[in-house]
Amino acid sequence: MFPETKYCLNCGRLQEEKFGLCTFCYTEILKIKLSKSVVYAYPIEVAFDEVYSVFKYDKVAKDIVRRLKYKEKVELSKVIAFFMKDTIDENKIKFDLIVPIPISKKRLKLRGYNQALLIAKELSKLTFIPFKDCIEKIKDTKSQTLFKDENRWYNVKGVFDCNEDLQGKTILIVDDVFTTGATAHYASEALKKCKAKKVIVLTFAS
Ligand SMILES: [Zn+2]
Repeated sequence: MFPETKYCLNCGRLQEEKFGLCTFCYTEILKIKLSKSVVYAYPIEVAFDEVYSVFKYDKVAKDIVRRLKYKEKVELSKVIAFFMKDTIDENKIKFDLIVPIPISKKRLKLRGYNQALLIAKELSKLTFIPFKDCIEKIKDTKSQTLFKDENRWYNVKGVFDCNEDLQGKTILIVDDVFTTGATAHYASEALKKCKAKKVIVLTFAS
C-alpha cells in the first residue's frame, strides 16, 4: 500500500508507525478522533441521510488536509482512505458506490487534481466498492472559506449536477472536510435527483 519509505507522509519524520504516519502523528491524531456520526444544526432540511467524520478538523488532521490540498502531497490521500476505512468498519456503513465532491474546472486547472477524487480512488481500492466521479460542478464559486455560516449555503446553491442513473443505490459521498454541510447537501440533492436511494457523507475531518 505505501512506498518503501520509512518517512512519515505527514511530517517527514523518519520511522513510519501506522497508516503512513510516524508514532508522533499517529498518537496525536487519535486524540481528535470522533467516534460516532455527528449531528449538526442545519438552516434547511438536508438531502443527505447520515454524516460521519473521522476526526475533528484540528492539529494533525488539519496539517494532513492542508498538505494534501496545497502542498501537492497526494500520497496523503492513502492515509486518509485508511482512516476512513476504519470508520466504515467501526460503524458498519454499507454502500454501493463512492462518489467524490467535485471541484470547479478552474480550481482543477490550478491545483492539478481533485483531492476528494484521490481519496475516493484509494477508498475504492480498500473497500472493493467502485467509485464514480459523477457529480459535476456546473458553476464556479468563490471558496467556501471566504464565507461564514449561512452564507455558505447560498454560495453553493445549485452548483452541482449529476447525469447518472443511481436508481436504488446507496451512495457514499467523500470529501476532505465537512464544515456547514452546505456542499454535502447540494451534492446529495443532485444525487437524489438521479434517484439515489440513500446518501451517506463521509469526510476525513469536521
Ligand atoms: Zn509524522
